[in-house]
Amino acid sequence: EIAIEARNAVKAFGQGAAAVRALDDVSVQIRKGEFFTLLGPSGCGKTTLLRLIAGFESPTSGQILLDGQDITNLPPNRRPVNTVFQSYALFPHLTVAQNVGFGLQMQGKPKAEVEETARRMLALVRLEAMADRKTSQLSGGQQQRVALARALAPKPKVLLLDEPLSALDLKLRKEMQVELKRLQTETGITFVFVTHDQEEALTMSDRIGVMSAGKIQQIGAPRDIYTRPVNRFVASFIGETNFLPATLQGAAARLGTGDLVELTDPPTRSGTVTLTVRPEQVRLAESGIAATIASWVYFGTDTHVHLALRDGTEVVARLQSNPSGETGLTQGAEVHLRFAPGAVQVLGD
Ligand code: ADP
Ligand code: MG
Repeated sequence: EIAIEARNAVKAFGQGAAAVRALDDVSVQIRKGEFFTLLGPSGCGKTTLLRLIAGFESPTSGQILLDGQDITNLPPNRRPVNTVFQSYALFPHLTVAQNVGFGLQMQGKPKAEVEETARRMLALVRLEAMADRKTSQLSGGQQQRVALARALAPKPKVLLLDEPLSALDLKLRKEMQVELKRLQTETGITFVFVTHDQEEALTMSDRIGVMSAGKIQQIGAPRDIYTRPVNRFVASFIGETNFLPATLQGAAARLGTGDLVELTDPPTRSGTVTLTVRPEQVRLAESGIAATIASWVYFGTDTHVHLALRDGTEVVARLQSNPSGETGLTQGAEVHLRFAPGAVQVLGD
């Protein structure tokens, strides 16, 4: 069941030659109750898409649907949608509980109901004890929880979160990632979460929409996006990877070295392509593709080994470290490498 849908959404800012296409024909269906993440670099159009869903902007063309209804022209306050921003935008002169109840009070809800809901929301974000404090007395992480409680209080069908954790330091950010995921599971509300942090997207999301230059590049579960990136942008934006030029030959691909690589998922087209394989799927072996060890970097849990193939292509292998941390590698040594079965993907453009 689809909660939110953007259909061929275009958003242009400015006129003529100076126009910026912040969104360039974006279509996406976000399912009811899912944790959906929009992931992409700064300027790719993530905030613009959220603002179209919230109703703060209207699309140049295309539609926004909620529960199958066209809401493109519905004003923001008539949409069952709420937003949490990176800047918490709390009211400093109000208490924590008053901040959380603010939206409901504005809707004219009875005082007892406002207070009861505020109490429940604060329990949900584990801040009951802070109800009567001023928000200026709270830490950044606590303020973010108050902002979340406030956004959840009117029971929105969809909660939009625009880089809500990026102002927090690393440790707090990790804690809040777990917290947000828990909140989403407990409330069952559809979350549309925006981040430029690939690890955050991979660990928190049911599905990810990867964006670049105003377009959605790929939509899928974290595992799909990581193991089967559709193009060079997605492959390199999410995790580290190797690119290998090759020529398709039936169910295999011939590298520049002449070596043949089996493909589990060979495309129907032919000609030259780019293959991609993740560093952790590259193994050193007794036989296989000849390579020379150029250098390596020890990372504790693993060691990244930089290898040069005979045609000059660079390949990085991520090898698990042994208990002593000794790599047993020699610079300039001739070795062989193999790719794990199913690990080699053929990229589109
Ligand atoms: P993101 O949130 O992914 O960083 P944005 O959606 O904020 O990206 O911006 C996408 C593009 O649209 C950028 O090039 C940005 O400069 C441009 N843009 C966004 N809002 C406006 C606006 N109000 N006026 C003009 N250009 C804008
Ligand atoms: Mg943004």
